[in-house]
Amino acid sequence: MSLASVSQSENRRLLHTYDRHKVLLERGRGCYLYDDRGRKYLDFLSGIGVNALGHGHPAIRKALVRQAESGVLHTSNLFYHEYQAPLAERLCALSGLERAFFTNSGTEAVEGALKLARAYARIPSRNGHCPAWHVLAMTNSFHGRTFAALSATWTKKYREPFGPLVPGVRFVRFNDVPDLARKMDASVCAVLVEPIQGEGGINAVTPEFFTAARRLTRKHGALLIADEIQCGLGRTGQYFAYQHYGITPDIVTIAKPLAAGLPLGAILAREQVAGALHPGMHGTTFGGGPLACAVALAFLQTLERERLLPHVREIGAYFRERLEGLKKKHATVREVRGLGLMLGLELVSAELAKEVAAEMLQRGVIINRTHETALRFLPPFIIGKKHVDHAVATLDSALKKAESKRRKER
Ligand SMILES: *Cc1c(COP(=O)(O)O)cnc(C)c1O
Repeated sequence: MSLASVSQSENRRLLHTYDRHKVLLERGRGCYLYDDRGRKYLDFLSGIGVNALGHGHPAIRKALVRQAESGVLHTSNLFYHEYQAPLAERLCALSGLERAFFTNSGTEAVEGALKLARAYARIPSRNGHCPAWHVLAMTNSFHGRTFAALSATWTKKYREPFGPLVPGVRFVRFNDVPDLARKMDASVCAVLVEPIQGEGGINAVTPEFFTAARRLTRKHGALLIADEIQCGLGRTGQYFAYQHYGITPDIVTIAKPLAAGLPLGAILAREQVAGALHPGMHGTTFGGGPLACAVALAFLQTLERERLLPHVREIGAYFRERLEGLKKKHATVREVRGLGLMLGLELVSAELAKEVAAEMLQRGVIINRTHETALRFLPPFIIGKKHVDHAVATLDSALKKAESKRRKER
């Protein structure tokens, strides 16, 4: 099928929830994707932070084939299979938390984390007869599209058409400690923070704010939930972004890169918190299936074997330095933000950011624009200097082109 026939048929038959780029992707290898005409794209977005090992990594292909050949793609959670336990062991060892629950997506992990926080707050010995149920979320947050996750998501256009939402969510100005302190009281069961906001434009939590959130949640008997769905699992050069801050949350949500492209997420929790859920209280048909878990184990083993975390720190620092160079050169670049291979470039206008991202795609480099004015880079962990140099040179030309167009218009 050609791009034209695919897009016509989609326009007729799909809910119109996406405005896709006019590219039909067919093949991938390493850091590159290829479309139906054989055009090659350097992938600096990884399917929004998912394909952290790039495309067609041998370890992932091997795990996929092995599991397919076993004939066991799905068991349901009524039975054991051999991969959930070692995957949970590994994630607990890496995170410093003690128990895991597997989901199919990020939003389901957030949904489950909020249910867990509410259930924990209801344990009678903790709070008497009036369980805490309020959740403090952050301005500019993104947590997903199901009702509870959506209720904690800042962007109004995502939320407002669907009200009434889940009650009890209040927004705190991100990184504003006095605002957090003012809104924190005994009615709060959880504070939900992305250590580095992704969709919100690549904004890192400040050490002051994160430390205050840890201290205030302890003081008021609430839980600190870190949403690491985008920033976790090596993206920032540590397994978890909160590890840069020396803080351990009570609950952590992960997803995007966990199964290297297959849908898999998880909730990680402290032992005591996990104890609030009993058989039957929460569940999923597909979550934590053998195929996704086998691939996730291969993903984590590959991070280790190929020493990808030190590489992310090194190449991320190099990329950041090159972006700082662009900032010096282009008055249209306001700020460089982020950590490791989760980087953003704030431009002076939304129009410009849109144009530059589109021009990059034209020139065969995939990035995206988020939060209107920010260009976002989430390349696979396997990129080298030559890939960074190519992306930065392309960005330089795309910025120049958009800037000169503006000069002509004036
Ligand atoms: C992508 C994302 C989600 C939602 O994950 P889905 O898998 O799309 O449901 C939640 N939180 C953060 C921080 C994300 O980046």
